[in-house]
Amino acid sequence: MRTTVGIIGGGPAGLLLARLLHRAGIGCVVLESRDRAYVERRQRAGILEQGTVDVLRECGAGGRLDREGLPHQGIELRFEGRGHRVDFPSATGGKSVMVYAQTEIVKDLIALQLEEPGGPPLLFEAEALAIEKPDSAAPVIRFRHEGREQTLSCDYVAGCDGFHGIARRAIPADRVRTFEHAYPYSWLGVLADVAPSCEELIYARHRRGFALHSMRSPHVSRLYLQVPGGTDPDDWSHERIWDELSTRFALDGDWTLERGPITATSVTPMRSFVQEPMRHGRLFLAGDAAHIVPPTGAKGLNLAVTDVITMARALIHHQETGSSELLDGYSRTCLRRVWQAERFSYFMTDTLHRRPDETPFEDRERIARLERIASSPTASAELAENYVGLPLS
Ligand SMILES: Cc1cc2nc3c(=O)[nH]c(=O)nc-3n(C[C@H](O)[C@H](O)[C@H](O)COP(=O)(O)OP(=O)(O)OC[C@H]3O[C@@H](n4cnc5c(N)ncnc54)[C@H](O)[C@@H]3O)c2cc1C
Repeated sequence: MRTTVGIIGGGPAGLLLARLLHRAGIGCVVLESRDRAYVERRQRAGILEQGTVDVLRECGAGGRLDREGLPHQGIELRFEGRGHRVDFPSATGGKSVMVYAQTEIVKDLIALQLEEPGGPPLLFEAEALAIEKPDSAAPVIRFRHEGREQTLSCDYVAGCDGFHGIARRAIPADRVRTFEHAYPYSWLGVLADVAPSCEELIYARHRRGFALHSMRSPHVSRLYLQVPGGTDPDDWSHERIWDELSTRFALDGDWTLERGPITATSVTPMRSFVQEPMRHGRLFLAGDAAHIVPPTGAKGLNLAVTDVITMARALIHHQETGSSELLDGYSRTCLRRVWQAERFSYFMTDTLHRRPDETPFEDRERIARLERIASSPTASAELAENYVGLPLS
C-alpha cells in the first residue's frame, strides 16, 4: 500500500486529521489497532473548547454535536461549603465550551469517513508494529492486518496512537527530551444513568479530597472522586461512591446530589508528560502520543485537536506552495500551546486536590488561591480564558 500521509491511530487526533486532509485533497490511510466497537465505546473526555467545536463544524462533523451537545457558559468552584461561579462569556469576549462526549465525536468522524464516497481508508484491527526510516524521504509503516504483516509506504507519518502507541518510541532516544510529573492520587470515574444534579460542572475541593460533577447528556452524569493511586474500583461499592460524592459536594445551603444506577467505573492515574520535539524527519506526533495532561483542566482532547489542525495546515501549505516552513515549525508551534495547557492543568490539579502529605499551610494556601479566583474578576478571567481555550497561534 502507498499513500501521502500514513496515520497511526483512529482516536480523535487520527480521525480528525484524516478528515482535514481528505477535504484538502491529500491522500491518507488510518491504521487503528482496535475494532470499531471498542473505539466507539471508550469513555474519556467530554468538554470541548470553542475552537474544537468550530473545527468539527467546519469539517462537516457538527450536525449531531449541535443537536445533542450542551453549551456551558461557566463552571462552579465549590470549597469550604460554598459555591462560586466562574462566568466564561463575560470574561472572554463571549466564548463558552460544549459538553459532548469523546465517544460521540469518534462515532461521528468514523461514520463520515466510512460512509462518504471516496473517503480515505480506515482499517480497524490494523496494528502498527514499526515505523521504518522515519527520517528518510520514504518512511514505511509495518502493520499487522487480517492475520498477516503488511507495509504502508508514505511521504509522511502521523503518530496519533496515544500514550501507549509505538510512534513516540520510533524517535531515537538521543534525539528527544521527556518531561514528566506523577501525582500522588488517581481519579475514580463513574458513569451513572441519572440526570445531572447541576446545570454546569462543579469542581469541589473538600478536606476528604477532590470531586467533579460533570455530565454526558441530560440523562447521564459523569462523576469523579480523588482516590489514592493504585485504588481498585471494585473496592468501592456503589453506595460508598454516592455517600462519598455527597459528602464532598455538600453545601452549607440546600443542595442534593441525585443518585441513580452506576453503569461504569474506572480508575485513571494523574500524570503530566511531554516529549520534545514532536517531529523527527517525516514523522509527526500529535495528541496523547506526544503529551499527557491530568484531566482536571479538560485539555487532553482539545490539545489533540489543535495539534492536528496545525499539522493539517502545514501539510496543506506544503502542497499548495511547496514550502516546508510550517512543517519545519510544527513542533515549536504545538509545544508553545502544549506547555500552556500543561501549566493550566497542573494549576487546576494542584489547587483542587489534597495531597496525602499536605501540610496545614499548603491547605490554607490552596484555599486562598480559590478565594482569590472567587473574589477577583481578574483572577476569575484568567481561569476562564484558559478553560475555554487559548487562541490558536
Ligand atoms: C481513562 C482516560 C480518561 C480521560 N478523561 C479525560 C477528560 O475527562 N477530559 C479530557 O480532556 N481528556 C481526558 N482524557 C484524555 C483524552 O481522552 C485524550 O487526550 C484523547 O483521547 C487524545 O486523543 P488521541 O487521539 O491523541 O489519543 P487516543 O484517544 O488514545 O487514540 C489513540 C488511538 O491509537 C490506537 N493505537 C494505539 N497503538 C496503536 C498501534 N500500534 N497501531 C494502531 N493504532 C494504535 C488506539 O487504539 C487509539 O484508538 C482521558 C484519557 C484517559 C486514558
